[in-house]
Amino acid sequence: MKSILLSLLFIISSTPEPNYKKQTEDMIKKFIELSEGKVVETDFDNVVVIFEEIKDEEHGRAVGLCYPYPWQPKIVIDTEWWNKWYRADSEREQLMFHELGHCILNREHTEKKEVENFSDWIENMLFEMGFFEKKGYLKDGCPSSYMHPYVIGSRCIEKHYDHYIEELFNN
Ligand SMILES: [Zn+2]
Repeated sequence: MKSILLSLLFIISSTPEPNYKKQTEDMIKKFIELSEGKVVETDFDNVVVIFEEIKDEEHGRAVGLCYPYPWQPKIVIDTEWWNKWYRADSEREQLMFHELGHCILNREHTEKKEVENFSDWIENMLFEMGFFEKKGYLKDGCPSSYMHPYVIGSRCIEKHYDHYIEELFNN
């Protein structure tokens, strides 16, 4: 028993640093493939992807950022969010594709983050009561775009993957 426990501890403590470079490269490759020719490898020549803890209060609880500098677009991914043990691969990919949406496809958010006025509030309320579809959301309550301002959960991603990819590259 003791030796099992010890070897288990060894496995946990020797978990290697995530290979961010490989993860990023694989995702970019997939992004290019899924774009069906809308983006090509050379579009990524100057793109920098950095993994670090995002602490900047200015960005609220942002888990990913894109700085669309024309000479060198920069993406920052929050390592704490990325490495959560329960994080699904599909969620990591969604975050990366969202930031690439900003930095490579020049897309902005489809929705604003906060309820800003009374009509937004009414719209929210009616949506929650099931009266009508809300702009920016699908009928089942999943966000309608990867460019939604908040990260999307794996349940929605898996359910609507084809729609999200199609929407991402065709808007
Ligand atoms: Zn964003």
